[in-house]
Amino acid sequence: MSLIVTLTGSYPPHPDIDPPRSLTIEEAEPSIRFAVEQQQQAVSGRPVNWLYVSGQPQDDIVSIYAKGLDGLKGEHLPFKVVSEIKHTTPIALRELEIAHQAIDGKPLKAHITGAMLMAEHNSIELTENSPVLYRNDDPDLRRHLIIDIANALAEETRLLTNNSSLNIQYVQIDEPPLTAGADSTLAKEAIEIIAKASKVPVILHVCGDISPIMNQLLDIQVDILNVEGQHLTRVRDLTPQLLRDHGKKLAIGCLPVNANEIPTERQLERDLLRMADRYGAENIWGITPNCGMRWSDRDVARLRLDRLANVALKVASRFEQA
Ligand SMILES: [Zn+2]
Repeated sequence: MSLIVTLTGSYPPHPDIDPPRSLTIEEAEPSIRFAVEQQQQAVSGRPVNWLYVSGQPQDDIVSIYAKGLDGLKGEHLPFKVVSEIKHTTPIALRELEIAHQAIDGKPLKAHITGAMLMAEHNSIELTENSPVLYRNDDPDLRRHLIIDIANALAEETRLLTNNSSLNIQYVQIDEPPLTAGADSTLAKEAIEIIAKASKVPVILHVCGDISPIMNQLLDIQVDILNVEGQHLTRVRDLTPQLLRDHGKKLAIGCLPVNANEIPTERQLERDLLRMADRYGAENIWGITPNCGMRWSDRDVARLRLDRLANVALKVASRFEQA
């Protein structure tokens, strides 16, 4: 195997769109091409194992899916629940078609919002028109709502990953609420509904301090955990054997996205090699920024891409032996 480099999801839109705003898919096309072009330039003919993303310039990930699902109304967060939540039409297909064409068929990653994230109170809100089943839920759990969202997102996952013409090699589910105290049993159920629908390996992205919940993450049936390396090192009992026992590989977040400072190549290389020693190079699937970059400065975003590509090249031999 060799180390994969991929972005966590979003990328700053085309320079003509400043600051980022809601875009129709037609308006977003130049920004998708821009995101792909920036990634291609970072690789620029070198043997980096890059997994491409579309950059999702249309909107934040919850809004992209909220606008596409039946049962939700609104133009921005929070969306109103007006009827039972269902999947009736493709949501991210066109975005991925544009990216696929722009990268000339290279490997692509699709992104699905997690149901926990989508059901948060600042993402969607219940109204008197919402189905009784949702309104009768425990307001803290929103169980029926979450399971219906998960089933709808599973439909989208099935549709995207069954489409072999796009070369989608991985699907990523984003669930940041897991580090903010979300119910872990319900989260596992919701994530697995989506993950089971995928025909390709599934990455679970959770940002923030995962150290108190790492054991719960290991129990979720996905292939790869994308977590921040700085918090991972605080999980004392995480061993190569434990990762193997749970069938998990790590996608290590190694670049902060909420600050303009970027760790040096030497620093990143050192951190990564230390993690390879600790968790086994064979258990490290790839490296990523810590989170999406929609709101980053364009030049800083671009520097992060270059740094990831350079570090991957520097440590490649170490990971190829794994
Ligand atoms: Zn994140």
